[in-house]
Amino acid sequence: MLFSDLGLSDEILKAVEKIGYEEATEIQAKTIPLLMEGRDVIGRSHTGTGKTAAFGIPAVSSIQKGDGNSVRILILCPTRELAMQACDELDKFSDFMPWVRTCAVYGGADIDRQIVSLRRGANIVVGTPGRVMDHINRHTLKLDNVRTVILDEADEMLNMGFREDIETILGFVPEERQTVLFSATMPEPIMAITEKYQRDPVVVGVEQKSRTVDSVEQFYFDVPMGRKTDALQMLLLAYEPKLSMIFCNTKKMVDELSEQLVSKGFRAAGLHGDMKQASRTQTLNAFKSGRLNILIATDVAARGIDVDDVDAVFNYDIPQDCEYYIHRIGRTGRAGKSGVAYTIASGRRQVSELMDIARYTKAHIERRELPSRDEVMAAKANAVTEAVKNCVMSGKYERYAEQVAALEAEGFSAEQLAAALLGMKISAETKNVPEFIKPVFRPNRGEKGSGKSGSVKVEISVGRANKIAPNFVLGALVDATGMAGKSFGKIDIYDRFTTVEVPEADKEHIIDSMTGTKINGQKIKIKLYEGKDNRDSKDKDRRDYRGDRKRDFKRQRHGNHNTAGRRNSKRYQ
Ligand code: ADP
Ligand code: MG
Repeated sequence: MLFSDLGLSDEILKAVEKIGYEEATEIQAKTIPLLMEGRDVIGRSHTGTGKTAAFGIPAVSSIQKGDGNSVRILILCPTRELAMQACDELDKFSDFMPWVRTCAVYGGADIDRQIVSLRRGANIVVGTPGRVMDHINRHTLKLDNVRTVILDEADEMLNMGFREDIETILGFVPEERQTVLFSATMPEPIMAITEKYQRDPVVVGVEQKSRTVDSVEQFYFDVPMGRKTDALQMLLLAYEPKLSMIFCNTKKMVDELSEQLVSKGFRAAGLHGDMKQASRTQTLNAFKSGRLNILIATDVAARGIDVDDVDAVFNYDIPQDCEYYIHRIGRTGRAGKSGVAYTIASGRRQVSELMDIARYTKAHIERRELPSRDEVMAAKANAVTEAVKNCVMSGKYERYAEQVAALEAEGFSAEQLAAALLGMKISAETKNVPEFIKPVFRPNRGEKGSGKSGSVKVEISVGRANKIAPNFVLGALVDATGMAGKSFGKIDIYDRFTTVEVPEADKEHIIDSMTGTKINGQKIKIKLYEGKDNRDSKDKDRRDYRGDRKRDFKRQRHGNHNTAGRRNSKRYQ
């Protein structure tokens, strides 16, 4: 449908034309008219379908010249990047409406500057729940005149533990309002929010034909244990993607991998939630402009990043969730271009996890052999030779002919000289091609299921008093250790601490990687559990987390993407 058929003002139509959108996407065509009517709407469609414009265009349209300085629309987004991005888009839609004033408020950035800009007056505030709460508490953000609240990526916000913040914020907004919710998935907690806070909402769903993106070719490699980094390097060297994104499951892995790739001369950088806002923005801009051509990220950090020309996605770690796989590979093959996604699996367990994902997403993920060192070397040598030939044809360095003549006079043949130069260039190009000689074995983390003989308990220094739920703990464990959720056993929550059954073989790794991390904003301590098994048993809030997971998995298979626990890992990024 054309934007001009949606009853939009001339100013908006001009702006949309300037941005270059031709037709409205399905979710836009379906929701824009309802939102302009003032209806409460639940909009569900997968990533990349243009949800920002679906709510952004009506939001901007609704601002009148007489709205002055007060906040009329509040938009909540899960991450700083998404808040910034949404705000940028609003600014584009309101390009020809100079009276519309927007302001983005998010954590990790100078609050004073945000206060100044709020004081100057804003009609549309886009923010992350935490920072919005902060401004409400400081009385620097007044929501008394808000007409519309929009929850963007609502599923993600709930997964990140923002539910309470969102409910508190909604309490500050007049009841007489429009409440709008956009989400890629509709798990039960969202339906609960909907029932509580929306009035007679219209549900607009856009179905995906195939769960994965047709324009993305998908391959996987089964590599020896401990050789994933080598395999990745080999692939980067062999395929030479112009712009690629590499996904890891943990922040730690992002850091390690970016360090390794940089040391091998790749123009790579990592992106995750522990980085300062300024350096995240810097990294992202460098990637968008092509100064960096490899971005290594966690799922949450990458969520919503809007770069069209990514030509390859690498899954360094197997995604912990089917939805993640779809989001990851959806970073490529955008805007009508084709893309490729490569998953690096190591060991039978990882391959079978990937095959589960393939079944669920109905994706065709084809196995490929890694290019051999010889193939890569030969390809590099060919490329150099080709480049030299082109250079000769272009006549670019003819001025050096005299020097060659001088060397020939000294008795070197032109053939010898050319061979030496080619050799130097080729070996410079190939010095980082890894070798696959002996596979290095590392302990097979998480292979032992919990509850088997080799499990011990660890004690984590947060409990019910810190409003901890089992899935928060599991999320933090998966996130910090990189182990699969199913490697962990029973989680018992007591008033002031929590115990978790973990595989004995991994206890050091687990304690090591969890030390100093946070759960639900609370810095934790972790040690081996010393208490008796049943101590305190009346007091504890015992849940067998594995039971929950099994149920969820079934639900997932039946097409409901309520993926509870494992997705909670995002709370910690
Ligand atoms: P979502 O929130 O559903 O994941 P976004 O709002 O981030 O999707 O949009 C994804 C991409 O599609 C962005 O690059 C956006 O500029 C582009 N886009 C949105 N609407 C249109 C449209 N009508 N025509 C062309 N491109 C669009
Ligand atoms: Mg979005």
